[in-house]
Amino acid sequence: MAEGAKAQDVPVVYLHEIKRQYMQGDAPLVILDGAKLALWAGQSVALVAPSGSGKSTLLHIAGLLESPDDGEVYVAGAPTSQLSDVERTQIRRNDIGFVYQSHRLLPEFSAVENVMLPQMIRGLKRSETVKRSTEILTYLGLADRLKHRPAELSGGEQQRVAIARAVANAPRALLADEPTGNLDPNTADHVFQALVQLVKATNVAMLIATHNMELAGRMDRRVSIVDGHIVELE
Ligand code: ADP
Ligand code: MG
Repeated sequence: MAEGAKAQDVPVVYLHEIKRQYMQGDAPLVILDGAKLALWAGQSVALVAPSGSGKSTLLHIAGLLESPDDGEVYVAGAPTSQLSDVERTQIRRNDIGFVYQSHRLLPEFSAVENVMLPQMIRGLKRSETVKRSTEILTYLGLADRLKHRPAELSGGEQQRVAIARAVANAPRALLADEPTGNLDPNTADHVFQALVQLVKATNVAMLIATHNMELAGRMDRRVSIVDGHIVELE
Protein backbone atom coordinates (compact mmCIF):
# COMPACT_ATOMS: atom_id res chain seq x y z
CA MET A 1 0.00 0.00 0.00
CA ALA A 2 1.33 3.48 -0.86
CA GLU A 3 2.50 5.52 2.08
CA GLY A 4 -0.26 7.65 3.54
CA ALA A 5 -2.99 5.61 1.83
CA LYS A 6 -5.76 4.41 4.10
CA ALA A 7 -7.17 0.89 3.96
CA GLN A 8 -10.46 2.27 2.59
CA ASP A 9 -8.65 3.71 -0.43
CA VAL A 10 -7.57 0.27 -1.61
CA PRO A 11 -9.99 -2.44 -2.74
CA VAL A 12 -9.99 -5.57 -0.58
CA VAL A 13 -9.73 -7.60 -3.79
CA TYR A 14 -8.89 -6.11 -7.15
CA LEU A 15 -9.04 -8.18 -10.31
CA HIS A 16 -6.97 -6.54 -13.02
CA GLU A 17 -7.28 -7.54 -16.69
CA ILE A 18 -8.01 -11.16 -15.86
CA LYS A 19 -7.84 -13.63 -18.74
CA ARG A 20 -8.86 -17.25 -18.51
CA GLN A 21 -9.52 -19.77 -21.22
CA TYR A 22 -10.06 -23.49 -21.32
CA MET A 23 -9.17 -25.76 -24.20
CA GLN A 24 -12.17 -27.45 -25.74
CA GLY A 25 -10.65 -30.05 -28.00
CA ASP A 26 -8.22 -28.00 -30.08
CA ALA A 27 -10.10 -24.72 -29.80
CA PRO A 28 -9.64 -22.29 -26.92
CA LEU A 29 -12.82 -21.39 -25.08
CA VAL A 30 -12.30 -17.84 -23.80
CA ILE A 31 -14.17 -17.32 -20.52
CA LEU A 32 -12.61 -14.15 -19.09
CA ASP A 33 -11.00 -11.67 -21.45
CA GLY A 34 -9.63 -8.72 -19.50
CA ALA A 35 -12.11 -8.78 -16.63
CA LYS A 36 -11.70 -5.99 -14.06
CA LEU A 37 -13.46 -5.79 -10.73
CA ALA A 38 -12.86 -4.04 -7.41
CA LEU A 39 -14.41 -5.35 -4.20
CA TRP A 40 -14.60 -2.85 -1.35
CA ALA A 41 -14.86 -3.31 2.39
CA GLY A 42 -18.44 -3.22 3.62
CA GLN A 43 -19.91 -3.53 0.12
CA SER A 44 -21.95 -6.43 -1.23
CA VAL A 45 -21.79 -7.15 -4.96
CA ALA A 46 -24.06 -9.53 -6.84
CA LEU A 47 -22.59 -11.30 -9.86
CA VAL A 48 -25.54 -12.08 -12.10
CA ALA A 49 -24.86 -13.90 -15.35
CA PRO A 50 -26.18 -16.95 -17.23
CA SER A 51 -24.92 -20.42 -16.48
CA GLY A 52 -21.61 -21.11 -18.22
CA SER A 53 -20.60 -17.45 -18.45
CA GLY A 54 -17.69 -17.76 -16.00
CA LYS A 55 -19.07 -16.83 -12.56
CA SER A 56 -17.45 -19.75 -10.75
CA THR A 57 -14.22 -19.22 -12.68
CA LEU A 58 -14.15 -15.57 -11.60
CA LEU A 59 -14.87 -16.43 -7.96
CA HIS A 60 -12.19 -19.12 -7.90
CA ILE A 61 -9.66 -16.68 -9.33
CA ALA A 62 -10.68 -13.96 -6.84
CA GLY A 63 -10.34 -16.52 -4.03
CA LEU A 64 -6.87 -17.64 -5.20
CA LEU A 65 -8.22 -21.15 -5.76
CA GLU A 66 -7.32 -20.94 -9.43
CA SER A 67 -4.74 -18.84 -11.30
CA PRO A 68 -5.63 -16.68 -14.29
CA ASP A 69 -3.77 -17.14 -17.60
CA ASP A 70 -3.02 -13.43 -17.53
CA GLY A 71 -3.78 -10.44 -15.32
CA GLU A 72 -3.28 -9.91 -11.62
CA VAL A 73 -5.27 -10.45 -8.44
CA TYR A 74 -4.48 -7.88 -5.75
CA VAL A 75 -5.47 -8.58 -2.16
CA ALA A 76 -5.42 -5.47 0.04
CA GLY A 77 -3.29 -3.78 -2.61
CA ALA A 78 -0.66 -6.52 -2.88
CA PRO A 79 -0.21 -8.56 -6.09
CA THR A 80 -0.53 -12.32 -5.59
CA SER A 81 0.67 -13.90 -8.85
CA GLN A 82 4.28 -14.31 -7.72
CA LEU A 83 3.47 -15.72 -4.29
CA SER A 84 4.45 -19.24 -3.28
CA ASP A 85 1.76 -21.87 -2.67
CA VAL A 86 2.33 -21.51 1.06
CA GLU A 87 1.78 -17.75 0.89
CA ARG A 88 -1.36 -18.14 -1.23
CA THR A 89 -2.72 -20.72 1.20
CA GLN A 90 -2.09 -18.31 4.04
CA ILE A 91 -4.09 -15.55 2.32
CA ARG A 92 -6.91 -17.98 1.56
CA ARG A 93 -6.98 -19.11 5.17
CA ASN A 94 -6.80 -15.67 6.79
CA ASP A 95 -8.28 -13.19 4.35
CA ILE A 96 -10.85 -14.99 2.21
CA GLY A 97 -14.01 -16.87 3.10
CA PHE A 98 -15.70 -19.08 0.52
CA VAL A 99 -19.29 -20.39 0.47
CA TYR A 100 -20.33 -22.97 -2.13
CA GLN A 101 -23.74 -23.92 -3.53
CA SER A 102 -23.68 -27.11 -1.47
CA HIS A 103 -22.58 -26.58 2.12
CA ARG A 104 -19.52 -28.90 2.08
CA LEU A 105 -19.63 -29.25 5.85
CA LEU A 106 -17.85 -32.24 7.40
CA PRO A 107 -20.62 -34.77 8.16
CA GLU A 108 -18.98 -36.32 11.24
CA PHE A 109 -18.61 -32.99 13.00
CA SER A 110 -21.19 -30.82 14.74
CA ALA A 111 -22.10 -27.31 13.60
CA VAL A 112 -19.86 -25.71 16.21
CA GLU A 113 -16.96 -28.06 15.37
CA ASN A 114 -17.26 -27.28 11.66
CA VAL A 115 -16.86 -23.58 12.50
CA MET A 116 -14.02 -24.27 14.95
CA LEU A 117 -11.89 -26.18 12.44
CA PRO A 118 -10.57 -23.30 10.30
CA GLN A 119 -9.69 -21.42 13.46
CA MET A 120 -7.83 -24.40 14.94
CA ILE A 121 -5.95 -24.87 11.66
CA ARG A 122 -4.95 -21.24 12.04
CA GLY A 123 -3.55 -22.07 15.47
CA LEU A 124 -6.06 -20.52 17.86
CA LYS A 125 -6.61 -22.09 21.27
CA ARG A 126 -9.49 -24.57 21.38
CA SER A 127 -11.35 -22.64 24.10
CA GLU A 128 -11.12 -19.48 22.01
CA THR A 129 -12.48 -21.25 18.93
CA VAL A 130 -15.43 -22.64 20.91
CA LYS A 131 -16.28 -19.17 22.17
CA ARG A 132 -15.98 -17.49 18.78
CA SER A 133 -17.84 -20.26 16.90
CA THR A 134 -20.69 -20.14 19.40
CA GLU A 135 -20.90 -16.37 19.03
CA ILE A 136 -21.03 -16.47 15.22
CA LEU A 137 -23.58 -19.29 15.09
CA THR A 138 -25.71 -17.48 17.67
CA TYR A 139 -25.48 -14.31 15.60
CA LEU A 140 -26.77 -16.30 12.61
CA GLY A 141 -29.73 -17.62 14.63
CA LEU A 142 -28.33 -21.10 15.30
CA ALA A 143 -27.80 -20.93 19.09
CA ASP A 144 -29.86 -24.07 19.64
CA ARG A 145 -28.27 -26.03 16.78
CA LEU A 146 -24.64 -25.95 17.97
CA LYS A 147 -24.32 -29.69 18.59
CA HIS A 148 -26.27 -30.79 15.53
CA ARG A 149 -24.47 -32.58 12.73
CA PRO A 150 -25.08 -31.35 9.17
CA ALA A 151 -27.53 -34.19 8.42
CA GLU A 152 -29.64 -33.05 11.39
CA LEU A 153 -29.98 -29.51 10.01
CA SER A 154 -32.29 -28.05 7.36
CA GLY A 155 -30.82 -26.78 4.08
CA GLY A 156 -30.96 -23.18 5.22
CA GLU A 157 -29.35 -24.04 8.56
CA GLN A 158 -26.58 -25.98 6.81
CA GLN A 159 -25.85 -22.97 4.61
CA ARG A 160 -25.79 -20.64 7.61
CA VAL A 161 -23.25 -22.95 9.29
CA ALA A 162 -21.21 -22.86 6.06
CA ILE A 163 -21.37 -19.04 6.18
CA ALA A 164 -20.29 -19.08 9.84
CA ARG A 165 -17.35 -21.29 8.88
CA ALA A 166 -16.42 -18.95 6.02
CA VAL A 167 -16.25 -15.93 8.34
CA ALA A 168 -14.72 -17.79 11.30
CA ASN A 169 -11.26 -16.30 10.69
CA ALA A 170 -12.67 -12.79 10.10
CA PRO A 171 -11.76 -12.66 6.39
CA ARG A 172 -11.46 -9.41 4.46
CA ALA A 173 -13.48 -10.88 1.59
CA LEU A 174 -16.41 -13.29 1.49
CA LEU A 175 -17.01 -15.04 -1.83
CA ALA A 176 -20.21 -17.04 -2.32
CA ASP A 177 -20.95 -19.17 -5.39
CA GLU A 178 -24.73 -19.47 -5.77
CA PRO A 179 -25.09 -20.02 -2.01
CA THR A 180 -28.87 -20.21 -2.18
CA GLY A 181 -29.08 -22.20 -5.42
CA ASN A 182 -30.31 -25.33 -3.64
CA LEU A 183 -32.76 -23.60 -1.32
CA ASP A 184 -36.47 -22.83 -1.56
CA PRO A 185 -37.31 -19.10 -1.96
CA ASN A 186 -38.16 -18.52 1.70
CA THR A 187 -35.00 -20.18 2.96
CA ALA A 188 -32.90 -18.45 0.30
CA ASP A 189 -34.28 -15.17 1.57
CA HIS A 190 -33.23 -16.01 5.12
CA VAL A 191 -29.68 -16.99 4.05
CA PHE A 192 -29.31 -13.81 1.98
CA GLN A 193 -30.45 -11.78 4.95
CA ALA A 194 -27.69 -13.40 7.00
CA LEU A 195 -25.08 -12.53 4.36
CA VAL A 196 -26.16 -8.90 4.02
CA GLN A 197 -26.25 -8.54 7.80
CA LEU A 198 -22.68 -9.88 8.06
CA VAL A 199 -21.35 -7.40 5.49
CA LYS A 200 -22.69 -4.49 7.51
CA ALA A 201 -21.63 -5.95 10.87
CA THR A 202 -18.09 -7.00 9.92
CA ASN A 203 -17.20 -4.65 7.04
CA VAL A 204 -16.23 -7.65 4.90
CA ALA A 205 -16.22 -7.23 1.10
CA MET A 206 -18.71 -9.65 -0.44
CA LEU A 207 -19.18 -11.06 -3.94
CA ILE A 208 -22.13 -13.39 -4.51
CA ALA A 209 -22.85 -15.25 -7.72
CA THR A 210 -26.59 -15.68 -8.04
CA HIS A 211 -29.38 -16.17 -10.56
CA ASN A 212 -31.89 -14.57 -8.26
CA MET A 213 -32.53 -11.00 -9.47
CA GLU A 214 -34.81 -10.22 -6.55
CA LEU A 215 -32.06 -11.06 -4.06
CA ALA A 216 -29.41 -9.37 -6.23
CA GLY A 217 -31.56 -6.24 -6.01
CA ARG A 218 -30.82 -6.07 -2.30
CA MET A 219 -27.05 -6.00 -2.78
CA ASP A 220 -25.16 -2.69 -2.87
CA ARG A 221 -24.04 -3.30 -6.45
CA ARG A 222 -24.74 -5.64 -9.36
CA VAL A 223 -22.32 -6.75 -12.06
CA SER A 224 -22.43 -9.24 -14.91
CA ILE A 225 -20.02 -10.98 -17.27
CA VAL A 226 -20.42 -10.05 -20.94
CA ASP A 227 -17.95 -11.31 -23.56
CA GLY A 228 -15.42 -12.04 -20.83
CA HIS A 229 -15.67 -8.54 -19.35
CA ILE A 230 -17.25 -7.36 -16.12
CA VAL A 231 -20.02 -4.85 -16.70
CA GLU A 232 -21.91 -2.87 -14.06
CA LEU A 233 -25.69 -3.35 -14.17
CA GLU A 234 -28.12 -0.39 -13.89
P1 ADP B 1 -20.75 -20.41 -14.37
O1 ADP B 1 -20.30 -20.54 -12.97
O2 ADP B 1 -21.13 -19.00 -14.76
O3 ADP B 1 -21.84 -21.36 -14.71
P2 ADP B 1 -18.14 -21.51 -15.00
O4 ADP B 1 -17.15 -20.53 -14.56
O5 ADP B 1 -18.34 -22.70 -14.15
O6 ADP B 1 -19.51 -20.77 -15.33
O7 ADP B 1 -17.72 -22.05 -16.43
C1 ADP B 1 -17.59 -21.20 -17.56
C2 ADP B 1 -17.34 -22.06 -18.78
O8 ADP B 1 -16.04 -22.66 -18.68
C3 ADP B 1 -18.32 -23.19 -18.96
O9 ADP B 1 -18.64 -23.27 -20.32
C4 ADP B 1 -17.55 -24.40 -18.49
O10 ADP B 1 -17.97 -25.54 -19.18
C5 ADP B 1 -16.13 -24.05 -18.83
N1 ADP B 1 -15.19 -24.65 -17.86
C6 ADP B 1 -15.16 -24.42 -16.54
N2 ADP B 1 -14.16 -25.11 -15.94
C7 ADP B 1 -13.56 -25.81 -16.93
C8 ADP B 1 -12.46 -26.73 -16.97
N3 ADP B 1 -11.77 -27.04 -15.88
N4 ADP B 1 -12.12 -27.24 -18.18
C9 ADP B 1 -12.79 -26.91 -19.30
N5 ADP B 1 -13.83 -26.06 -19.34
C10 ADP B 1 -14.22 -25.52 -18.17
MG1 MG C 1 -20.94 -21.72 -11.42
